[in-house]
Amino acid sequence: MWNRWCTARRFQTRGPCLLGCGNSEGDDIAHYCCCPVTREVCKRRLRLDPEVYATLHAFLLVHPSIGSKEDLAALGLLQYGIYCITNGRRKRADNCIGDAFDAVAQSIVEGAKGHSKAMNTLTNRWSRRMQFIELPPIRLVQWHDSLCRLQALRSR
Ligand SMILES: [Zn+2]
Repeated sequence: MWNRWCTARRFQTRGPCLLGCGNSEGDDIAHYCCCPVTREVCKRRLRLDPEVYATLHAFLLVHPSIGSKEDLAALGLLQYGIYCITNGRRKRADNCIGDAFDAVAQSIVEGAKGHSKAMNTLTNRWSRRMQFIELPPIRLVQWHDSLCRLQALRSR
């Protein structure tokens, strides 16, 4: 996921956004995370605030506002959808720029199929009865202790 997408930028070139927003240098993860199409999918399909979740930090799943397993799953599905559509369009000679919103939304559904928890998250995004399961807090103390032990081992 991190810097492994076959974008033009990864190969030190430039290419247009394959979601069709018109950005001539948008074939780049840094663009796809906040592309207008991504923002619309966040807002209209996944019930994610694009101001928070259509960002590089959210796309890399490290944004501190990601507080529930459902939001984390929704972001994973968003990545899957954008990844599938941009890769599919990259393979075609004409880039076939159609309605990217519908294409990404359909790809998200396809990505959730066969995985009951992902499908449940996706179908209940707009339900008032949706129960969000909070992510456990990050235990920095434990991580720090592990780092200190590792450094102690290395210094021996
Ligand atoms: Zn774009």
